[in-house]
Amino acid sequence: NAKKSGKNNFQLFTTELYDSILLKKQLEQEMKFALSGNQFTLCYQPIIDIHSGELSSVEALIRWNHPTRGLISPIHFIPLAEETGLIYAIDEWVLENACRQNAIWKEKGYQPLTMSINLSARQFYNKELVHNVEKLLSELDLPPEFLTLEMTEGTLMQHTSDTVQVLTNLKKIGVKTSLDDFGTGYSSLSYLKNLPITNLKIDRSFISDLFLDRRNGPIVEAIFTLASHLDLTIIAEGVETVEQLEFLKKTNCKFAQGGFISSPVTAEEMEAILK
Ligand code: C2E
Ligand code: MG
Ligand code: MG
Ligand code: MG
Repeated sequence: NAKKSGKNNFQLFTTELYDSILLKKQLEQEMKFALSGNQFTLCYQPIIDIHSGELSSVEALIRWNHPTRGLISPIHFIPLAEETGLIYAIDEWVLENACRQNAIWKEKGYQPLTMSINLSARQFYNKELVHNVEKLLSELDLPPEFLTLEMTEGTLMQHTSDTVQVLTNLKKIGVKTSLDDFGTGYSSLSYLKNLPITNLKIDRSFISDLFLDRRNGPIVEAIFTLASHLDLTIIAEGVETVEQLEFLKKTNCKFAQGGFISSPVTAEEMEAILK
């Protein structure tokens, strides 16, 4: 039997898989040089107040400008960075550079803008996080309400006893927090009441399915109602059509982000929007 499973295991090594393991190893090596080699860049995606139509914040989204492979999406390297631990340094780089960009926009006298940053579990549970954030904001002379940190349900569920402590400490220094991609993970509404978070970002799968299934509208509305009772600010992700935006306008949803409003743009393009 051992012989048989051994044979089966061997069969798993198709050319395709062999290639992908090689590619993974190679990407891993290349990613180490990407930070020092200035190959990462940030895009910014506007988040608007649905009722006034005004810009409220931007989400910083990382891109890898690879010298030979071209622009690589974070969905292709963030999981690998998490596996190898490089995410730690990447998140730090994003935090610093996105906040620095925001400080520059503030210096130039543009309207106050909250910068939203995605944090991996590694950074969220980093004992130095709160201290580092506080130090960075003071160095840049940025008020804490200019920063929101986004974490997924998966992250917040990892070490539940520490989660509340970290969120409470972030709240103490005045930084806002978002539960990102809400509805894709545990989607348990009951654990929400124990989490001292500021915002709930409804995952784009709910928004894109709004009119595909008649039951989705009421589900989304129920989430909004509950969230508003818990004093959570709701942000809808992935708004791609005017119909979706109109639906959100009629409900308790206050903020929206998505292709219909604006795709992620470069810092220069963002500055043009600010002007
Ligand atoms: P996320 O935090 O949920 O970010 C939203 C993603 O949805 C972005 O993908 C954005 O480009 C995309 N998106 C926005 N509007 C629409 C829309 O209307 N339709 C569709 N189909 N997509 C839309 P992106 O930039 O590829 O990022 C993917 C994920 O990678 C992010 O999901 C986040 O989890 C992660 N990520 C991105 N930047 C960072 C970072 O700096 N640090 C960490 N740790 N993770 C990051
Ligand atoms: Mg996000
Ligand atoms: Mg999200
Ligand atoms: Mg998402």
